Amino acid sequence: MRDRWPEVVAAAKRVVADCPSLCQSACVDCLLHFRNSYYHRHLNRHTALDRLEEWGETLDFTHDIPPRLPTPTAEEVPVNDPELTLRAMLVRAGLHGFQPQRSIDLGRPLGATTPDFFYEPRNDAYEGLCIYLDGMGRHLHGRPETRERDRDIREGLRNRGYEVVEIQFGQLTDPDAMRQHFFRIGRFLLGKDAAQRIRDDSSWYGAPVVETEQASEG
Ligand SMILES: [Zn+2]
Repeated sequence: MRDRWPEVVAAAKRVVADCPSLCQSACVDCLLHFRNSYYHRHLNRHTALDRLEEWGETLDFTHDIPPRLPTPTAEEVPVNDPELTLRAMLVRAGLHGFQPQRSIDLGRPLGATTPDFFYEPRNDAYEGLCIYLDGMGRHLHGRPETRERDRDIREGLRNRGYEVVEIQFGQLTDPDAMRQHFFRIGRFLLGKDAAQRIRDDSSWYGAPVVETEQASEG
């Protein structure tokens, strides 16, 4: 991005200047997207164009950007892969036993669905726990029909006795949101007390514990 910043700025200008619907402020043809739905009322393509003109296309270094996600150790995963980031957090929180990419057939008309992570049920109350990481790749939800289908599938899962946890990709950098999600997952897997401990001690969110430190603590 940095090396090709003038191209990035030019592309952004095209988006806001050439809206096919010639909208007054912002619409689905230019700025409005499922992922920024929370900010829709603030978006205005004309204001954006003014700012882009004003800021120009040069970048000046001011400071480093501190990491907000755990830094990977040698055997750990790159943090720029959201699924692997979530997986590392689950492991660190002691939420073991997940199966990645396990397909569940809901029959017609819903068809099959593949949660990013699946846990077998720990008791008769549930069929299992499905975790979906949304807002990226195949779960982008950009198109309304995809969004509707995903909603139907998750509703279908809940009706069949599955617990469903939906994590927005952007929430991976939001410790409070992740604590709430992990409380629900922990409650399903380990019970309320353990879930509260996971929620209140969010060390699983920070930097990964190194093996040797773990050994000396024990
Ligand atoms: Zn528009």
